[in-house]
Amino acid sequence: MNPLYASMPTTIFEEMSLLARATGAINLGQGFPDGSGPADLLQAAADAVLTGSNQYPPSMGLPQLRHAVARHYQAHQNLDVEADDVLITSGATEAIAAALLAVISPGDEVILFEPTYDAYLPLVLRAGGAPKFVTLRPPDWRLSLEDVEAAIGPKTRAIVFNTPMNPTARAFDRTEMAALAALCVAHDLVAICDEVWEHVLFDARRHLPLFAFEGMAERTLKIGSAGKIFALTGWKVGFVLARPHLLGPLARAHQFLTFSTPPNLQAAVALGLGKSAAAFDAMRADLQRSRDRLAGALAAGGFSVLPSQGTYFLCVDLAASGVPGADREVCLRWVREAGVAAIPLSAFYASGHRPGDVVRLCFAKADAVLDEAAERLIQWRKAV
Ligand code: GLN
Repeated sequence: MNPLYASMPTTIFEEMSLLARATGAINLGQGFPDGSGPADLLQAAADAVLTGSNQYPPSMGLPQLRHAVARHYQAHQNLDVEADDVLITSGATEAIAAALLAVISPGDEVILFEPTYDAYLPLVLRAGGAPKFVTLRPPDWRLSLEDVEAAIGPKTRAIVFNTPMNPTARAFDRTEMAALAALCVAHDLVAICDEVWEHVLFDARRHLPLFAFEGMAERTLKIGSAGKIFALTGWKVGFVLARPHLLGPLARAHQFLTFSTPPNLQAAVALGLGKSAAAFDAMRADLQRSRDRLAGALAAGGFSVLPSQGTYFLCVDLAASGVPGADREVCLRWVREAGVAAIPLSAFYASGHRPGDVVRLCFAKADAVLDEAAERLIQWRKAV
């Protein structure tokens, strides 16, 4: 057995979801909405199962979906792309794995931003890469360009960049991103951009893709996911946008990971991506309302809630909330004693520079679920 995996724990998402199921706790841990998804997309997928092909689609993806992804990014992010720049994968995680396998040679260094979404580090290591961490700090989680520059050396090959960022719920601003892009150009780095939360942005923010910054289109692998866009996290339909010289090697890696992605789900996603801008605005408004509901209730109950600019998540600073203890221990107590599952941010730190104890809560839930969860946490806090 490879020692990396032999000694690895189950992901924090699965661990907390299993505990929530076993205890009957409200699950605000793993990030998934509690609805069943948009009815028109469910119907389109069902129709495609019954009337469309159920055999292997092309490894690059259904042509109609590749065109739909390109048109979507032209319309929503003003990107100069076409269907040939698009590859369809079985979710963003597969796209990230394929990107790292295609870009990294043994010994290459890869910049990761901490707190680091949990899949990145094991995938970098298994691809033979050496991680270099740049640690972000609450409450504002700003990118320090000095820290990024200090992490870059002659062996640095790539950065893995996630905006809006999970688990911090921060969307990086134009100044930070322009400086990051300039460093990528100056040091000839490839940017592997996990942008699965690109549509889940609040307070009238617009998504900034690193791909659009000067000199970046030729060196960026931009990754998106239908799961987050349409609240269908189990579908696992992802897409990669990149120029052919980068997309080609990634497609070679993809052909030996999953080869292709269920054609019926691809057909339904193609339909969804063509929806009007108003449909995406409505989705954002709905989630923003849920964010405000949970954040407001927790803050009124004495919790210190950090700003959430995007994603399904908000973070709570435990020490500032008057809750003693390590974040992981608090999460284990919450699930058993309060009946609420959350995610400790310590699961996303490997460098040893973890700044404080912070937990992440998912607010993509019905009002009654959010109200009940907040009430349980507030009562628990009063009792300890
Ligand atoms: N992206 C999800 C989250 O952050 C987790 C996905 C998974 O469990 N692999 O909660």
